[in-house]
Amino acid sequence: MNILDELKEKKILLSDGAWGTILQAKGLNPGECPELWNITHRNDVLSIAESYINAGSDIIGTNSFGGSVFKLSQYGLGDRVHEINKAASAISREAAGSKKHVAGSVGPSGKMLIMGDVTEEELYNAFSEQAKALEEGGADIIIVETMSAIDEASLAVRAARENTSCTVIITMTFSEATNGEYRTMMGVSPEEMVGSMIEAGAHIIGSNCGNGIRDMLGIVKAIRAVDNKIPVMIQANAGIPELIDGATVFRESPEMMASFIPELISAGTAIIGGCCGTTPNHIREIGRVLGR
Ligand SMILES: [Zn+2]
Repeated sequence: MNILDELKEKKILLSDGAWGTILQAKGLNPGECPELWNITHRNDVLSIAESYINAGSDIIGTNSFGGSVFKLSQYGLGDRVHEINKAASAISREAAGSKKHVAGSVGPSGKMLIMGDVTEEELYNAFSEQAKALEEGGADIIIVETMSAIDEASLAVRAARENTSCTVIITMTFSEATNGEYRTMMGVSPEEMVGSMIEAGAHIIGSNCGNGIRDMLGIVKAIRAVDNKIPVMIQANAGIPELIDGATVFRESPEMMASFIPELISAGTAIIGGCCGTTPNHIREIGRVLGR
């Protein structure tokens, strides 16, 4: 069933948790290309996808966050965009079967239009290439995530809408300013995101990363203050990362995250999952609150 039809039935859908932090736990070294693991460590990546399906996720992502030509080129893999992204969504589709959703992950390019690093056309073409390969591998959704800049996010959303038949989700990353308002690194507010992303063609909008689940509540309220129709997706970190003995630690427990779910839903959230530091245990616990 199309995810938008499921949401129309007022279902609350469960997404997945972190991939990057789990790949690191499985031995991905700093300086290694995470997306190349779709080829070299296929079974490790598949086991992450399966762990989220087993935890009850209705939607799982793909190991393709840094799969644009710009990111892969940093590892000398710029000519393998198609192969690596197609493999990423094929792995997740294998775990998801035909009934669950696969959301092909598209992260920031690392290039800034405002700095003249790249042209709009180059960015659009890069996102198109990635989105098409993700759809070919089996994704039925493209999720553009962790975005900070409106112009880049708009190009990524448009590229996915115009070159695939996937449902398109955009989630941006905010943090709380001293005045209590939320802004991305590039100064975008949740309210500004809503209008621009709907115009670019997004079906679902929201926020991921940057925050623990407490701050996500304020972001959902800010979105709902300007639009009460578009489905909202939230994927919070397991708290703000802390550096302890040289290791990054996320402290929010599955129970702590789950305790915020009722409020997030009554504020208007339709899809809930986790970002950095969250595990299948976090997803299972959130699922419990959702009555799974
Ligand atoms: Zn994150």
